[in-house]
Amino acid sequence: MLQERSITQDKRSGDEQGQPAHKVEDGLLSQVLDTLEQGVIVWSSEGACITHNARVLDLLKLKPAQLCLGATLDALLSECEDRGDHFDMSRPDLHSALADRKPFQLEIRLGCGRVLSAQVRPTRDAGHITAFTDVTDTRNAVFALEDAKAEAARAEQTANEVLEHERGRKREVSLLAKMDEWLQSCKSLDELYEIVTAFMHRILPGSRGQLFIYSNSRDVLEQACAWQFDVKQENFTPDSCWALRRGRTYTFSNDALGFVCDHVKETHRGEAAPEKFTCVPIVAHGDTVGLMHIEFLPGSESIDVVDPVAFTKRCGEHISMAIANVKLRDELRDQSTRDPLTGLYNRRYFLDAMRRIMTQTVARQGNFALLSIDADKFKNYNDEHGHDAGDVVLEAIAEKMCSLDVDGAVACRVGGEEFSILLPFADRSRATESAEELRHSIEEMRVKYIGGPLPKVTVSIGISVYPTHGTDPQELIKQADIALYAAKDAGRNNSQVADGASMITFD
Ligand code: GH3
Ligand code: MG
Ligand code: MG
Repeated sequence: MLQERSITQDKRSGDEQGQPAHKVEDGLLSQVLDTLEQGVIVWSSEGACITHNARVLDLLKLKPAQLCLGATLDALLSECEDRGDHFDMSRPDLHSALADRKPFQLEIRLGCGRVLSAQVRPTRDAGHITAFTDVTDTRNAVFALEDAKAEAARAEQTANEVLEHERGRKREVSLLAKMDEWLQSCKSLDELYEIVTAFMHRILPGSRGQLFIYSNSRDVLEQACAWQFDVKQENFTPDSCWALRRGRTYTFSNDALGFVCDHVKETHRGEAAPEKFTCVPIVAHGDTVGLMHIEFLPGSESIDVVDPVAFTKRCGEHISMAIANVKLRDELRDQSTRDPLTGLYNRRYFLDAMRRIMTQTVARQGNFALLSIDADKFKNYNDEHGHDAGDVVLEAIAEKMCSLDVDGAVACRVGGEEFSILLPFADRSRATESAEELRHSIEEMRVKYIGGPLPKVTVSIGISVYPTHGTDPQELIKQADIALYAAKDAGRNNSQVADGASMITFD
């Protein structure tokens, strides 16, 4: 058993014997101990100091008088604790380790900051020997090494994040460049929608989306294309979308304050709204022409881009640009091929189309027909009802021409109140049938005008058929015109087939 004795008692006991313990042992052991780099204390079975070397005083920062022969372990511990030394083992644990009589180790952090490692070994005479080593430099080196390792790991992590970010950026740029290349080369909006569907599905695989375009009347948005959506979204008004209302990209996320757009609620009627979505207005030449809506499905963190929302916005900008280009191209083409009043093809387009249809018909050795249509007594009509009323009637005639249900029919306005229709594949009887159907529908139409419904208008129609009435465009036009004059001569409001000599016939 260790005895509780104070250092003063010990000192007294040391004093009684006249000398500190390490001076008492003058023999060989004492000499050996003094040569050691380690500090050593030998304890009796009662836990009192039998001897120690000079080095231990130096290591434990004790004066010789503070560690006398007979000083107890507990007294030494109390002395050390009082001045702020810290042991990594509690006093009861230390005593029970000593009682076990097995070697063990503890660490002491001195108040001055140095760290000692104490190795405790039992001696043959039931005491213990404690060897103290100053491990401050080793500990500091270990801490410094650990700090350096942690710093290196942080640096590596930062470098990896930068690299990952850079890789993501490169991927985004390359995907956008690929989509752009396709978008730039598409000729129509339909082609564009196909490309958008295919690319958006690929470049944002953890998402689904829809592209909406304003209807011609501009009051509702219609779904132009969709990817990963099973339901066809109904048309909706622009005020159903926060992005369109606020004129900028809107992102909704469950974990932030925000409101779900009405059109999104409508899509998800009867089910929970998506956790996260983005709506990007599609702007072409400064005009909002539509909306791209993307929903990020749960687990979409797997989307391999740096910032999916920002990336969606960039995609929207590229799609906007492509739509603007296609629309501009369409407008320019329309301006050069369409008649502004009726929207029908113009004379230039009519001649090109006729040459094209003729080449195709020659190749397949078939027929096609040309209808030359002229409004009857239209001068009088204008005189009686005004030129503006006449314009409205011309538009109505154009509408009837477009609603003629013939595959590939090309309706044109070739002059003031003169129109033509090309009917690919039509032979004489099909052409006559179509001419009569059109003539009747025009005769029956009741055109509304500001001053009330306008009186009926009639047309006369001349028909020529390839190759029966000609094998080149000029001849066919001439024959159809002759037939038209014949129809006028026959009292107007009727159709006549050319009676020109047939050269080759497949009828
Ligand atoms: P017909 O039955 O013999 O064809 O008689 P018509 O009066 O239709 O023939 P005419 O060639 O003498 O007159 C054509 C008229 O078509 C004259 C012109 O006022 C009218 N017209 C031509 N272009 C337009 C147009 O863009 N708008 C309107 N409102 N009228 C037009
Ligand atoms: Mg005329
Ligand atoms: Mg006329």
